[in-house]
Amino acid sequence: MKTATRIFNLSAGPATLPVPVLEQAQRELLALPDIGMSILEVSHRSRVFENILAEAEANIRALADIPSNYRVLFLQGGASLQFSMVPMNLLAEGATADYLVTGVWATKAADEARRIGNVHIAATTKAEQFSRVPRVEEIVLTPGAAYVHMTSNETIEGVEFKTEPGVGDVPLVADMSSNILSKPIPVEKYGLIYAGAQKNMGPAGVTIVIVRKDLAERADKNLPTTLQYRTYIKEKSLYNTPPTFAVYIVGLVMEWMDSEGGLSAIQKRNEAKAKLLYDTIDTSDGYFKCPVEKDSRSRMNVVFRIAGGDEAVEKEFARQAEAAGLVGSPGHRSVGGMRISLYNAVELPAVEALTGFLKDFQRKRG
Ligand SMILES: *Cc1c(COP(=O)(O)O)cnc(C)c1O
Repeated sequence: MKTATRIFNLSAGPATLPVPVLEQAQRELLALPDIGMSILEVSHRSRVFENILAEAEANIRALADIPSNYRVLFLQGGASLQFSMVPMNLLAEGATADYLVTGVWATKAADEARRIGNVHIAATTKAEQFSRVPRVEEIVLTPGAAYVHMTSNETIEGVEFKTEPGVGDVPLVADMSSNILSKPIPVEKYGLIYAGAQKNMGPAGVTIVIVRKDLAERADKNLPTTLQYRTYIKEKSLYNTPPTFAVYIVGLVMEWMDSEGGLSAIQKRNEAKAKLLYDTIDTSDGYFKCPVEKDSRSRMNVVFRIAGGDEAVEKEFARQAEAAGLVGSPGHRSVGGMRISLYNAVELPAVEALTGFLKDFQRKRG
């Protein structure tokens, strides 16, 4: 049997997971300690799984310091289903929801909300190819809006909010799929947070929703049962069969994050990783170029063009990077260019290997 060697995985999601988590999952795959069955085989109604779920939730709550009036839900359907569930539950007939449109994902979220009710685009940076987040004075909110929706990190354009926009008493709803738990989160500033797990928290298949309980109670009781947050609150995410394996891995990732020193330590590391890569790009005399304004640059997804956006050179870059064990550098098919994802589980040596590769590539080709 060929021994597997791990490459540096810099892709946007599903993304790299911490090695200690994979090792533990591997050790426990045939039989969970003292249980004698695999996580893949246990009933979601068993005490064993109830404990795994409760522990995963407790770990998220502790890590992110989630106040007691918020519920943590484990759902399916990805962040994309939340584009619909949010307005179905929070946007009452006749009311208006405000959307901050900062990229592809925010655009999709707003488009889905329009199928449900009134949507007001409170700000958009589309005219500038989504190269920054909106400035405070550009945001025009609807008085008494049902909620304000933001995408805290635009995974495709590499744009990230560094602070929460001021929204007064209106609930702030955030799609945090690609930067959740990458730094401490002031949860009390949000009404609802959602994130697919497959970027920063675990494998594909589970979506985390953190919702203020009173907001979840706003929903029309005639909505389909599986589309009401209320159902999952009442049944503790066990209304139907949850993605048990994905929940188990999320629990292990949370334990790993805690052992790494928690969110402040993770934030420091993430900032150091991003700085190293952006500095390399910014000191390349324009050979590598990040189109995102400095204050809006994502610490999670770093996008850049090479040699003025020469697609043949960019293709060659991706090919050589992959041959050097640096996988996942091409940008999203909708925007082209390069994109390097630096999620929590990407270690500094991966970024050092990458920046070394960038310099070499420029020396040889630039
Ligand atoms: C990946 C991503 C999504 C889509 O997630 P799915 O789980 O595939 O539905 C939505 N929003 C953001 C910000 C993302 O990064």
